Parts: sequence; C-alpha cells; structure tokens
Amino acid sequence: AAEEGFDLEDVEGAIEEAGHGPLPVLAVVGRPNVGKSTLVNRIIGRREAVVEDKPGVTRDRVTYEAEWSGRRFKVVDTGGWEQDVLGIDASVAAQAEYAIEAADAVVFVVDAKVGATDTDEAVVRLLRKAGKPVVLAANKVDGQSGEADAAYLWSLGLGEPHPVSALHGRGTGDMLDAVLEVLPDAPEQTFGTAVGGPRRIALIGRPNVGKSSLLNKVANEERVVVNELAGTTRDPVDELIELGGVTWKFVDTAGIRKRVHLQQGADYYASLRTAAAVEKAEVAVILIDASESISVQDQRIVTMAVEAGRAIVMAYNKWDTLDEERRYYLEREIETELGQVAWAPRVNVSARTGRHMEKLVPAIETALAGWETRVPTGRLNAFLGELVAAHPHPIRGGKQPRILFGTQAGTKPPRFVLFASGFIEAGYRRFIERRLREEFGFEGTPIHISVRVRE
Ligand code: GDP
Ligand code: GDP
Repeated sequence: AAEEGFDLEDVEGAIEEAGHGPLPVLAVVGRPNVGKSTLVNRIIGRREAVVEDKPGVTRDRVTYEAEWSGRRFKVVDTGGWEQDVLGIDASVAAQAEYAIEAADAVVFVVDAKVGATDTDEAVVRLLRKAGKPVVLAANKVDGQSGEADAAYLWSLGLGEPHPVSALHGRGTGDMLDAVLEVLPDAPEQTFGTAVGGPRRIALIGRPNVGKSSLLNKVANEERVVVNELAGTTRDPVDELIELGGVTWKFVDTAGIRKRVHLQQGADYYASLRTAAAVEKAEVAVILIDASESISVQDQRIVTMAVEAGRAIVMAYNKWDTLDEERRYYLEREIETELGQVAWAPRVNVSARTGRHMEKLVPAIETALAGWETRVPTGRLNAFLGELVAAHPHPIRGGKQPRILFGTQAGTKPPRFVLFASGFIEAGYRRFIERRLREEFGFEGTPIHISVRVRE
C-alpha cells in the first residue's frame, strides 16, 4: 500500500468501513401525527422521508440508512398512513408490531403536548411484550417550557422520556446518543447468536403472486418441523420447514398465512411487512406472477432486497398458466424490467401443480454460496492487475486513473474496496463488477464495490 501512495491507516480504515456487516435496525413507531416522519428526517439528515405524504398513500420506501457518532444503522419509518378500516388503535398496533418485529431497538415517539393517550398505552404493551430496547422520545418540545410536559411521560413506565423537537432538532442528538447505547452492533435477529441454526428465507412478492400457495405447497409436501430446535428463537411468525433434507426457517410467515384484508393503507402494510421480512432473512425468494406483466411494484420489491444486501432467488410462479405467447413476452420483460437481478438464480414454478418445487432448494443454496463467497486478496489482485492492463480506464483531463489494488472487506454480501490513483467513472465501476462476476461467480448476490482515491 505504502509504495502506491496510500497510508496504511487509511487503507485499514477503508477496509473496516466497507466491510461492515449487516446494519442494526432502528424502528420509529408511534401514533399518527406525533412527528415520526419528521424525526426520521432528522435522523437520516435528509428530506427524503416525505412528511407531506397524504394519508393512505403508498410509500415505496420504509427503510433508510443513517449514521450518528460514526455508527451506521438502518431506520424503519412507520409514518406512512393515517387510519384505516381497523380503527386507529388496531392500525397503530399492527403497524408497530410489524416494525418492532424487524427491529433491534425502537424509538417510541409520543406527542408531549398531547400527553400519553390510550393508543400510546396500547403500543407500550406491545413494546413490553417484544422485549426490545426502547428509547422514549417526547416530541414537540420546541422550547424550555415544554420540558415539563415531557416529564409526565415517565408515567408510561419506559424509563426516561427524551424531550426532543423533531422539527427544530432540539434534543435529538442526546436522544440518538441514548439510542446508540442500546442498539446492538449487528442485527441480532438475523446474524446474531443462531450460528449454525437454520438459514432464514423471506418469501416475498406483491399480493396475489402466490406466496401463501407456495408456502402451503412446500409445508404440506415436506415435513414441517416443530419449532423446538436448540438455539432458535421461538418466534411464532417464523416457520421451520424441512426441504431437501435441510431445515430452513421461513421468516414472517404469519403475514402470509393470515391475510388481513385492508383497504386503505394495504399497500403500505405490504411494504412494511416485506421490509421486515427482508431484514430478518439471509436470502429472499422473490415471487413474480409470470402470468401478468412485471409491474413497478415487483421492481420495488426486488430493489428492496438488493438494497438490503440479501441473497436473492427469482421464482416465476403460475407457470402452469403460460401459453407460448406469454412466455415470449415474459422473457422480454425480464430482460428489460429486471436487469438489476440478472445474476440471480431463477426457477419457473407452479405452486398449484408443484412444478419445479425441487429446484427451489438448489437455487437457494447457490444464492447463499454466492453471498458468502470470499475471494483471497492474492487472487483478486492478480485478476485486477490483468483487467487493468487489458482494459485501462479512459484518459480524463490528460490523466489515466488506475485501480492500484483491492481487497474484499466483507461477505454477506461480498464487499470490495478498490484503491485508485484517480476518480473512477461509474461506467468503469460497472465494467469491473461485470468482470468480477464473470470471474468469481457471485450468483444470487448483490456485490458492493467502493473506491478510494489516493489524496
Ligand atoms: P407522523 O404521522 O407521526 O409521521 O407525523 P409527522 O412527522 O408527519 O408530523 C405531524 C405534524 O407534526 C406535522 O405537521 C409536523 O410538522 C409536526 N411536527 C413534527 N415534529 C414536530 C415538533 O418537534 N414540533 C412541532 N411543533 N411540530 C412538529
Ligand atoms: P399471495 O397473496 O401472494 O399469498 O397469493 P396466494 O397464494 O393467495 O395466491 C393468489 C391466487 O393465485 C390464488 O387464487 C391462488 O390459487 C392462485 N395461484 C397461486 N399459485 C398459483 C399457480 O402456480 N398457478 C395458478 N394457476 N394459480 C396460482
């Protein structure tokens, strides 16, 4: 590194940063209008979570990356809708339940000006039951005079209320310090203690693609394992199913089996549920209804899984219904609409007839293997050396930026740091990714490449 002009400490720092494992998840929950979205905006330091969203409007994004005091984590915003057919209490509870399930810690937001309501109390009961660490945010304390209102919230029994003004930023730093104290370094649900436990699969896809049919098919034909394995958390929403002689944990299946028919906000619930399942899983099996055109919603779900860095299998369901013409158009659509996961193993299945069910497990295993691949530094640099010699970066401003060396900083998914002598253009980065895939496989996994440029 030194002879290439990089300081050893910089190199180590870059590797550590890029090699971070899966990030812990913080959920922000509370009643409508207490300021959850405003607070999420504060936390992520962007105006991305949309406060002006209309009630019931679908949000395609519920998780965001954030950083505080040098630590990175994910934030799940649940401020997506206002009310629905279940009535306010049940809605808030359902929403909070989904988010809490996927979270490693929770910020519970209460409107200090209003004080604790019955709905707030209902959420407190859920939080108690879940047993996850909670930080209580007493919001809308815009000035000194509001501090007394915040103090009343001790009565909720969740410990110290942290007075904040999400709108003006007052107190949010102290609150985030408190969050970091209770937030684990890595998501425990997903990557914590259960080493050697069953691999976790999220079966996801938009409504009606056949998730519950597929789950029933695999669960009925194969042995459903009683949830009593040592070292597995007894989570009623997860199901252990033996497939191909191996026990797998299908996460969040309650949402698939017990389908609540909601009108308003149903799409929003669906995205929240999907995000929660993806966070808990190692591999996502994304179900697409092959009989219908691939939709924007399908693409969003794919993006969610890719951005979460999970291993991915694409399963095209309802294959029994396809005629030749539809098959032709489906292939075109897959090429144009789902190019972002062209690297994912694919199975064409029918939950109805059981077609190709036996191909599911090998595809999942392939994706997990890609997800865990580690390329030795020597091999990587031999590959990079040849690549750069054969296909140099285009000359810019009279200079030729060069990749000098690289290393794989982490797995699950594979993360690379490349060290370069100058700015590396996006097109060249994509080229490198393509060639990395050609050389080392990485079937079924997103890969991350970050580039450090010598000062
Ligand atoms: P959510 O439904 O819980 O996501 O709430 P929003 O973030 O959409 O906020 C609801 C309303 O409360 C909006 O009009 C915000 O501007 C307002 N609000 C949020 N935080 C604060 C705050 O700290 N102080 C004051 N005065 N108003 C706030
Ligand atoms: P979910 O909303 O994703 O859980 O979808 P469901 O499992 O409830 O399925 C939605 C509809 O598609 C139901 O009417 C199923 O019977 C039907 N369906 C599911 N899988 C298949 C399949 O492989 N072939 C056919 N023809 N229909 C299917």
